[in-house]
Amino acid sequence: MRAGVHSLTDVQNKILQSHRRFTEDEIAPHANAWDQVGRVPREVVAAMGAAGYLGALIPAEYGGTELDMTEFGLLNEAIGFGCSSVRSVLTVHSMVSQAVTRWGNPDQRRAWLPRLASGEQVGAFALSEAEAGSDVAQIATVAENDGDGYVLSGTKRWITYGQGADVFLVFARHNGRHSAFVVGRDTPGLTVTPIDGMLGTRASMLAELRFDKCRVPRSALLGRPGFGLAPIAAAALDVGRYSVAWGSVGLAQSCLELSLGHARERRAFGGPVFDHQLVQRLITDMATGVSAARLLCLQAGELVQSGAPTAVAAVWMAKYWASTSAFRAASDTVQIHGAYGCDPDGSPQRLFRDAKVMEIIEGSTQIQQTMIARLVPYEEKRS
Ligand SMILES: Cc1cc2nc3c(=O)[nH]c(=O)nc-3n(C[C@H](O)[C@H](O)[C@H](O)COP(=O)(O)OP(=O)(O)OC[C@H]3O[C@@H](n4cnc5c(N)ncnc54)[C@H](O)[C@@H]3O)c2cc1C
Repeated sequence: MRAGVHSLTDVQNKILQSHRRFTEDEIAPHANAWDQVGRVPREVVAAMGAAGYLGALIPAEYGGTELDMTEFGLLNEAIGFGCSSVRSVLTVHSMVSQAVTRWGNPDQRRAWLPRLASGEQVGAFALSEAEAGSDVAQIATVAENDGDGYVLSGTKRWITYGQGADVFLVFARHNGRHSAFVVGRDTPGLTVTPIDGMLGTRASMLAELRFDKCRVPRSALLGRPGFGLAPIAAAALDVGRYSVAWGSVGLAQSCLELSLGHARERRAFGGPVFDHQLVQRLITDMATGVSAARLLCLQAGELVQSGAPTAVAAVWMAKYWASTSAFRAASDTVQIHGAYGCDPDGSPQRLFRDAKVMEIIEGSTQIQQTMIARLVPYEEKRS
């Protein structure tokens, strides 16, 4: 930790610092340039593979690093500190890795996991469509049985790293329910069209995927037919939500460090702007918000790791708090930087745009505001 109050153990802090060193060497110095060109170079993704980051949720027997959930969280904080676009790639790849690990049969695990763990192949998560985002049950992509395989037809939209991924986890209507399929990028009938210029996480290389009578073998079906949305997508989205929660902590931490640095150096009315109490208030809220977010994320990580029944609620709370406080922190970072905050080459405006995205993906703020109330454990009193 370079600024702020935290409750990490010495071991956790060392882990965070080692991932932060990777970020500071490989990612943070380039984040603004990647945002401007709208691409994360494949070499950076390969470096994450070489560092074991892409195998974070993959068992060691398949070449993964099998991190526990707290360490996976700290990794997401460190990468999110440097660049939310890169962290987004880690998020969707980890969602696919988790799904294949958990629901794949032994042949599917052997076929896909070693390459996902090394980064030879990168995964992307293809659920959303033009007419179905929060309400995922409305997806219109269909899968039809065809001899010993399936034929997929439909269009997926806003697929993070769709431009670069090698393998897609695709959800489709199938025999009146929903099923999940692992589809290689080179499958005939699949067309990938880049979506550039998004508001935030601009370098995460979004794409639209069009499946035009795209035939996949029987081995592409992940888990049992009809298990696509629940449990497969739901469990993957839990992982994505957890990753975005920690990534938002990293983003807010970056805001805090930038704001402290600028406020102490920039002078107005005879001294550093830091000396003005209204600026101190912004930094107070930012530092408190990031500490609280990290604590909620640590709590969520422990509960997920131990398989506690309250883990799902804890992850929702962590993502809700972390994403909303990251957006407030990013907005205040622009404010504290004044015109520098609006500079096209500076980090504050990128953080501000990226932070808005954190409130939309993996369950929007409004969905969280209704879901968490329903997830809060309650024991009815018996009279
Ligand atoms: C940068 C980026 C990356 C993305 N990456 C991926 C990806 O990799 N894979 C993928 O499948 N999808 C991806 N998405 C899509 C993302 O998952 C959806 O945008 C998200 O689920 C919200 O859906 P929507 O945009 O259709 O909004 P809608 O569901 O149409 O919601 C619109 C508004 O209505 C509100 N709303 C909706 N329902 C309710 C309700 N019940 N109660 C209260 N308010 C409600 C929402 O909060 C929102 O404010 C990405 C999106 C972005 C912006």
